[in-house]
Amino acid sequence: MLALDLDSATREALMTRILFCRELGLTELYSRPVDPALLAKLTVEPEQSPSLRAPSTCHPERSAAESKDPRLVLPGERVEIQDPTAALQLIRDEIGECTRCPLHQGRHKIVFGDGDPAARLMFVGEGPGADEDAQGLPFVGKAGQLLNNMISAMGLKREEVYIANVVKCRPPGNRVPEQIEGDTCAPFLFRQIDVIRPQVLVALGATAATWLLGSRQPLAGLRGRVHSVRGTQLIVTYHPAYLLRDPRQKKEAWADLQIAMKELKLKLPSKG
Ligand code: SF4
Repeated sequence: MLALDLDSATREALMTRILFCRELGLTELYSRPVDPALLAKLTVEPEQSPSLRAPSTCHPERSAAESKDPRLVLPGERVEIQDPTAALQLIRDEIGECTRCPLHQGRHKIVFGDGDPAARLMFVGEGPGADEDAQGLPFVGKAGQLLNNMISAMGLKREEVYIANVVKCRPPGNRVPEQIEGDTCAPFLFRQIDVIRPQVLVALGATAATWLLGSRQPLAGLRGRVHSVRGTQLIVTYHPAYLLRDPRQKKEAWADLQIAMKELKLKLPSKG
C-alpha cells in the first residue's frame, strides 16, 4: 500500500472513491502522469492502517446474497449498478483531459456521450465530427439530425436513449480512427456500456461494429441479425452520415431498427 502525505480526511475520501470504483466493476484504472515532486513523497507503508481498511461488506469472499448488497460481487459476476449517473461521472473523471492517443492533438472538446444513463437502447457511432467537437456532444450535426429522426421513428425521444462513439476525440478530417486510437479509447466505451447495460446496442457503421465485436467484418454480413456483446444484444446498421450520402439505404437501416424495436418490444408500425 502506497501512502501519500495526505490528511486523514483526504485519504479516507480517496479510499472511498477507489472502493466505489471497485464495487462498480471499474477495476482497470488508467494512471495519469504524476508530478515527480509528489512521487518523491511516496513511501511504502508496511501495513494498512485501520482507517484505510475496506469495510467488511467489501470483502471479496462475501457473496452478494449474503451481504444483501447487490453491488458487492465476486470477480466475474455481473455488477448491479446502483447509480449509473455517478458511475458514468467516474469514468468521465478518469478520462480527464485525456492525452492517451494522438487524437487529443486536434480536438477542441472530448465527446463523452449523451443521454439517459439507464437507457434500454444505446447507439454507438465512430467518432465526433466538427459540430460534435465544437459542442462536446455526440451526433449534433446533420448526421445527428438524421439519427434524431431515426429515434423518433422508433417511437422514442433522444433523451430516452444513450449515444456514444468508439473514440471521444475528433479524428482529423473525419477519417476513420486508427487501430491504436480505437484500441486506446474503446475501453472507456466498454465501461459506459457496462454501466448503462442497455438491452439493445445499435452499432452505427462498420467502425462501431468492428470495435464492439472485436473483429473487422463487412457490414453486409453483420446486418439483419442479432449479435451478443457484453451481455447485450447488438444490431448493426449504417452510419447516418453514410445514409446522408446514399439515402436509398434508409429503407435498409429502418429494417435494422425494426429488429431493435422487436427486441425492445416497442410497437412496430403497421404495414401498408
Ligand atoms: S480519443 Fe479517447 S483515448 Fe484518444 S485522446 Fe481522446 S479521449 Fe483520450
